[in-house]
Amino acid sequence: MSDMQHDLRELYQEMIFDHNRHPRNFHKMEHASHQAEGYNPLCGDQLTVYLHVAEGRVTDASFVGEGCAISTASASLMTEAIKGQPLEQVESLFADFHAMLTEAHPEHRDFGKLEVLSGVREFPARVKCATLAWHTMDNALHGVHDTAKTE
Ligand code: ZN
Repeated sequence: MSDMQHDLRELYQEMIFDHNRHPRNFHKMEHASHQAEGYNPLCGDQLTVYLHVAEGRVTDASFVGEGCAISTASASLMTEAIKGQPLEQVESLFADFHAMLTEAHPEHRDFGKLEVLSGVREFPARVKCATLAWHTMDNALHGVHDTAKTE
């Protein structure tokens, strides 16, 4: 590994730790238009995602729950990434984020801060931690009332 890759990896880990210690948008939403619960039995991560959708856009996003650093950081980064975005953008970001962790890094996509989670693909057992909030958000958007499971 080059020094630059090493530095980058440390920076990514720092950002994940920071979002775990100080999760953004970590609160219950009183007037959510959409919400869903998610559970990852492999790790014990559980969370509730709240969305407010108006005029085809996610105008607000938040979450509460308990889980490992990866699941909490991913939920925190997700709420930041989708706030203000049109629904079709949110859907395509979810698809590309999922592909980044499970298939190949989509070349056309600039993931911004979400890039810090790209290293998770080297740890297949943690991929479910990183995608839990996203599956839960997707269920919330589609009005699925069952608890999102990562199985
Ligand atoms: Zn986890």
